[in-house]
Amino acid sequence: MSELLLDVSQMREAHARIERTYPPDALPSDGDVYRIAAPFVLRCTVHKDRQQFRLVGRVEATLELACSRCLERFSLAVDEAFDVLFLPHAEQAAALERQAGSERQVEDDDLSTAYYQDQVLDLGQLMQEQFYLVVPMKPLCGEDCRGLCSVCGTNLNTGRCECHPTWVDPRLAVLEQLKKDT
Ligand SMILES: [Zn+2]
Ligand SMILES: [Zn+2]
Repeated sequence: MSELLLDVSQMREAHARIERTYPPDALPSDGDVYRIAAPFVLRCTVHKDRQQFRLVGRVEATLELACSRCLERFSLAVDEAFDVLFLPHAEQAAALERQAGSERQVEDDDLSTAYYQDQVLDLGQLMQEQFYLVVPMKPLCGEDCRGLCSVCGTNLNTGRCECHPTWVDPRLAVLEQLKKDT
């Protein structure tokens, strides 16, 4: 069985510790969003309550992202805590029915609910969801990234250019024109 899956069929005790280290290619990288740049580690405690399994722990990884301003790649250290409740797959349909039948807002903790089938928890999916959660909408290599010149495309963090992309206030342009005319 893949290391990304956790077989709970033999789990008898109420709690179990798991600690696993994965090679970077154990999970597919999402080229547009992130690349997994180094081995990553999952540490968590599994709490068993009949058919429910609550996983509380952390995932540590190094992701490589592309800066949204200068397009350079940079590393993001991830050390993300999670608390996810796994329910049997059969309960998913019931939960969806309840939601459809009521006007009730989806509760916050619904976000950290996962479903499992065949006595197997998908740790890979759990970790991937953490990665998507930590990647910002507009990743920046640094708060003060100067981006690319809008005229020639030079990376202004590392180079200079001769362009002067100045924006002229149209009201000032009118004044300039008036001055010329008089
Ligand atoms: Zn940048
Ligand atoms: Zn330029």
